[in-house]
Amino acid sequence: MSNDVITILKNEIENFRREIKAEKIGHVLEVGDGIAKISGISGAASQEMLMIETSGGEATAITFNLEEDSVGAIILGDATSVKEGDIVRPTGRVLSVRVGEELIGRVIDPLGKDQDGRGFIFTNEKSKEVFYPVERSAPSVIARESVGVPIHTGIKAIDAMIPIGRGQRQLIIGDRQLGKTSIAIDTIINQKNDTRHKTPICIYVAIGQKESKVAKIVATLKEAGAMEYTIVVSAPASSSASLWYLAPYSATAIGEYFMEQGRDALIVYDDLSKHAWAYRELSLLLRRPPGREAYPGDIFYIHSRLLERSARLNKAHGGGSLTALPIIETQLGDVSAYIPTNVISITDGQIYLEPELFYQGIRPAVNAGISVSRVGSSAQTKAMKKVAGRLRLELAQFRELAAFAQFASELDESTRRRIERGRVLTEILKQPELHPMPFEQQVVLIWAATNGIFDATLPAEVAARGEAFLDYIEKRYREATTDKIRASGELGKDTEEVLVKASEEFWKL
Ligand code: ATP
Ligand code: MG
Repeated sequence: MSNDVITILKNEIENFRREIKAEKIGHVLEVGDGIAKISGISGAASQEMLMIETSGGEATAITFNLEEDSVGAIILGDATSVKEGDIVRPTGRVLSVRVGEELIGRVIDPLGKDQDGRGFIFTNEKSKEVFYPVERSAPSVIARESVGVPIHTGIKAIDAMIPIGRGQRQLIIGDRQLGKTSIAIDTIINQKNDTRHKTPICIYVAIGQKESKVAKIVATLKEAGAMEYTIVVSAPASSSASLWYLAPYSATAIGEYFMEQGRDALIVYDDLSKHAWAYRELSLLLRRPPGREAYPGDIFYIHSRLLERSARLNKAHGGGSLTALPIIETQLGDVSAYIPTNVISITDGQIYLEPELFYQGIRPAVNAGISVSRVGSSAQTKAMKKVAGRLRLELAQFRELAAFAQFASELDESTRRRIERGRVLTEILKQPELHPMPFEQQVVLIWAATNGIFDATLPAEVAARGEAFLDYIEKRYREATTDKIRASGELGKDTEEVLVKASEEFWKL
């Protein structure tokens, strides 16, 4: 009998214990500069979301530094409401953002809140629930396919000589105000010109830019009809370093969603220099030991694990892709500084912009001599490859001769001709911003220039002549030339014959 009572009591006690739900809560020990030191949650995971109960409501933070007796967390959004002693609850979830179709055409912040005041209506029952963690591991080598489909920027100098393929990571690098952003925006706009390939979903990530500048970019994209397939993720200059830091990761999560749906996505990080500053600021506030240029030791790793997430998946994994165009701002053209060298070594190629070219009026100020694309040429169309090889060679010869010819008083006929050809080609490659050109027109124009069609034209008139020639072709010979090049991706003998005939007629006009 007494044994029974004891067993019953024992059971009761055990069950009673089981009913108690242990909830780990912590307290804010110290807060300042958007950083909170928290005690009592030593089991928290890295990048775990924390809810802080403030006097006015709730604030979100994510764990950053996991130490033995405390956790360093960055507060997202308004940090002023968080006070010492506030209660902190770990959520058990790593930071995630909502992904889905509904984001297309919208401007959001790195946490997925709308910035355009329109609110969100998630029409699709499914996308109400689709959250992707902002940090994920990159697709494995086995899931990847080599680059083979182009992303046309619409910029002649780039599509011809520094071609980019879907899944590639191509860096745009240069000093301030040299047209870095313009190249990225033109690329986004040009995606609707490219009817030969599926239009990728474009994601423009603005890191630490003035709100007015971002608004202007959105207006430009809207006007060009490009917002129909674009998402803008903005952590403006006025927002905290934590949001600057987070922006590229959450935008990448959104891009990954489309990639995993078997679609193509293109992401522009404008720019990673500011992202590195934000990370340095956070790290210094968290008292991480500073290394070279005061950046923390893992700055290389944070950019490499971001860019590793760009990929082209193979058929078995849906065949989607995520192409990355990171932007880096250099100081006085110093590409050997810490952050530029890091990002150069992580990317598959670089587009270098040069102040001298920009000020000479050669815009876009792409230095084709030192810019490279290590994988993109396998994605280039046959037609472009055919005309671009010659362009590259003639321009290289021109650069060499032009430097040399400065000292020579008399030039022989062939040298003089080569220099003149080089001048024509330089003129042909100039292009105003917001005027991306479909690749088939680029092919025709470069074909014409490398075949000497404009050799007798004064440099100042080359651009106008080129345009007139394209106009003539489009009006009279579209079917036999540009339409054909676009459909087949090739520049056949028959097309070239039509072009020869057309150019003869053109000069007789
Ligand atoms: P920042 O360092 O401020 O971000 P950036 O390198 O991104 O600058 P942009 O803002 O793209 O450069 O362009 C700088 C200026 O150059 C702008 O006034 C723009 O209008 C002009 N510009 C850019 N590309 C061209 C072009 N192809 N032709 C003529 N002007 C151009
Ligand atoms: Mg810019």
